[in-house]
Amino acid sequence: MALRIHNTLTRQKEDFTPMHGRRVNMFVCGITPYDHVHMGHAKTYVTFDMVARYLRSRGYHVFYVQNVTDVEDRLIARMLESGRDWRELVGEFIVEYMAVMDALNVTTVNHFAWATDYIPEIIEQIKGLITKGHAYDVDGDVYYDTTTFDGWGKLSGMVVEELRPGARVEVDKKKHHPADFALWKKQKSGEPAWDSPWGKGRPGWHIEDTAITMSHFGPQYDIHGGATELMFPHHEAEIAQAEALTGLRPFVRYWMHGGMLMVGGEEMHKSLGNFWAVVDALKTFDGEVLRFFFVNAHYRSPIDFSVAAMEEASKSYKRLLDSYQMLSHAARSGREGQSTADASLDKAAETAKARFDEAMDDDFNSREAIAAVFTFASEINKAVEAGVSKEVAQRSVRVLDSFGNILGLFQKIRHQGLAATDSLLDLLAQMREEARKRKDFAVSDMIRDRLKEIGVTLEDAKDGVRWKLK
Ligand SMILES: [Zn+2]
Repeated sequence: MALRIHNTLTRQKEDFTPMHGRRVNMFVCGITPYDHVHMGHAKTYVTFDMVARYLRSRGYHVFYVQNVTDVEDRLIARMLESGRDWRELVGEFIVEYMAVMDALNVTTVNHFAWATDYIPEIIEQIKGLITKGHAYDVDGDVYYDTTTFDGWGKLSGMVVEELRPGARVEVDKKKHHPADFALWKKQKSGEPAWDSPWGKGRPGWHIEDTAITMSHFGPQYDIHGGATELMFPHHEAEIAQAEALTGLRPFVRYWMHGGMLMVGGEEMHKSLGNFWAVVDALKTFDGEVLRFFFVNAHYRSPIDFSVAAMEEASKSYKRLLDSYQMLSHAARSGREGQSTADASLDKAAETAKARFDEAMDDDFNSREAIAAVFTFASEINKAVEAGVSKEVAQRSVRVLDSFGNILGLFQKIRHQGLAATDSLLDLLAQMREEARKRKDFAVSDMIRDRLKEIGVTLEDAKDGVRWKLK
């Protein structure tokens, strides 16, 4: 069955056909590192991490680029109010961002593109837009003339008339039309600036993305992701810039937008006092539980974050972890040979896999996919109780791991398991030494031989004995 993706541009689910065979170029709007990463960001980046993981599991070669908006109005405002250098703010918040992404098992971005590394490409695009009559320079500020682009509004469905002079948009006297947006902003005192044909200044926000994606992907590419709030004007502006410049349509084949993160039924805002920085949430909730909370909903649905909802998520996730651990135990120490519980567990694994893939193929419906994992987990519990064989348990662990790899779950338990294994091997090596010292060769040889059977050899070192994996 084909993978289908909901395309915001056409407002329907479409079969996924990448432009270049199995290669998928994917871009997601990154952060402006001027403040703490918030829960809305976390939801977005977990979503697209899952998208990249699923596409890769299906054999696509995903090249995932995310930008870092390291020069922008909000960053400059923060610089001016705090008296700190903008680069210092960027440094601080990008480090926090990376740490937070790590805690959420977000690992799939191939390249972080920093906007200020693309100033020459940005300038080239603006020059091209001016040459083609889509942009104009007013005393060092350059604007995009939205009336010259016939596709303006097609992504967000905004009614063009609403954006004409006299409508509710605030009028900036330098602009020809209220909807026109800045491509280049003239330097104001104290602001970072670069040389350009229009004088010293800095890029507008929207042009950064098209300069970056055209550098890496060319004039058209497969997937552009981001939060719904960015659809207008940001993504609309990207389309206007790229399509006017290259004449090629569509600029992006599949536009994907994630649903909003609400807090207690309201939009999250600093002014409402319901703002959650991810660093603070991580003090209370485990990163993987947070991730579970996000992927346990369809990415296009809004989700309501609350302490109660997180406690609920935590309980649900623990049920999955318990089944995972029971099954892992059976995979190590279950019975040899066959068991009457085998056939039903194999069947449950097969059903779970089919349901999981079907759900993910349907516009990455991770909510349905997780429902399949829960059904599988209860079958696992039954099979383990009934004494499933080692071999069949091992097969089911591999199926659970494949789900975990796509959803970005069960990662911690696997690492914890590995860390515990290391400590246990240390302990066994030590126990064997103790046995040898008291000349209990039966026990010391048994430990050595049994370890050898599982591929662990013991060797003498200056400070005692150390173990080594084959
Ligand atoms: Zn963007």
